[in-house]
Amino acid sequence: MVSTLVPVPFLDLAEANAPHADELKVAAARVIDSGRYIMGDELEAFESEFAAWCGVRHAIGVGNGLDALTLILRAYIELGALDEGDEVIVPANTFIASFLAISANRLVPVPVEPDEVTFNLDPSRIEAAIGPRTRAIMAVHLYGRLADMPAIAAIARRHNLLLVEDAAQAHGAALDGRKAGSFGDAAGFSFYPGKNLGALGDAGAVVTDDDVLASTVLALRNYGSTEKYRHAQEGVNSRLDELQAAMLRVKLRHLDAANAARRRIAARYRAAIVHSSIQLPDAGDEATHVWHLFVVRSAQRDALREHLLAEGVGTLVHYPIPPHRQQAYRTLRHLALPITERLHAEVLSLPMAPYLDDERVARVVDACLRFGAP
Ligand SMILES: *Cc1c(COP(=O)(O)O)cnc(C)c1O
Repeated sequence: MVSTLVPVPFLDLAEANAPHADELKVAAARVIDSGRYIMGDELEAFESEFAAWCGVRHAIGVGNGLDALTLILRAYIELGALDEGDEVIVPANTFIASFLAISANRLVPVPVEPDEVTFNLDPSRIEAAIGPRTRAIMAVHLYGRLADMPAIAAIARRHNLLLVEDAAQAHGAALDGRKAGSFGDAAGFSFYPGKNLGALGDAGAVVTDDDVLASTVLALRNYGSTEKYRHAQEGVNSRLDELQAAMLRVKLRHLDAANAARRRIAARYRAAIVHSSIQLPDAGDEATHVWHLFVVRSAQRDALREHLLAEGVGTLVHYPIPPHRQQAYRTLRHLALPITERLHAEVLSLPMAPYLDDERVARVVDACLRFGAP
């Protein structure tokens, strides 16, 4: 285990779940004894609890976050709102899953450079990327910070584009009381174990206020069927199982406290890490950021990473290679995206988890402050 070697590992999922272990075990036992493991009461309860928490009409549990995004776009194709070859605007510096959801539907990802302060889609660059085949914008709330949804939604309205949110990193990020997932036509969430709301395995959800889209995704996730053995579409099998739904119901009850703990840790990092070679992330308005990741920048990123590891602090890079530089997207290789490429060379994610106590936060801070000291 990494955690025994590195005093402050980047993330320790066992420690993250330990405070809730008793509740999780009770919930798991309830599912085991129920004899119902797929599409039962736990899923229905989680879907309505999560929809209410996000402030939307519908939540539809699916197998993972990538499937959530893929099925939203697939549903729009089924409904005739999107067609093969249509273009979808997406931030160039996102996790590759945002791109994969687009291209898996034979839609075309059009990467747009981010704002360097927020790491999110730069609204002032979107309109230049809109062409005759543009039909949708996928906004990503990267690292837990809400994208500039009022500005992006205004552009989507003006150009009659669908607006999809990739909210996989932003459970609870909010503006004026509205939460991530409630701004677009639909949103995809991931409950991958390391996310702010993490299952104990893979899980995801689509949220939307659109009744027709919701019923289409509901069918698509289950073989294109809402009535047993009748299939309206060529659907897939991407369901959120009862065990994971039960785990997520427990974790959802602790999510507000967990996000508050992340904000306290981010505030301490931001107050204490004062170093000429380390650029701290902007916090925005407090509610807009749920600090899925605490991402600093440094021109000496790799040296900083090695230094922190030597000091017992684990870090990760989110992400080392942007999608357009991946072998999988070699057709996008020619694109000039200098901001994105600079960010990928400079970003470093410090340990960030609700369980981090003052002592370990101080250890991370001190290790950062010693960077470059003789
Ligand atoms: C995690 C993540 C996804 C994909 O979620 P999975 O559950 O791992 O499939 C999509 N987009 C972003 C931005 C993510 O961080």
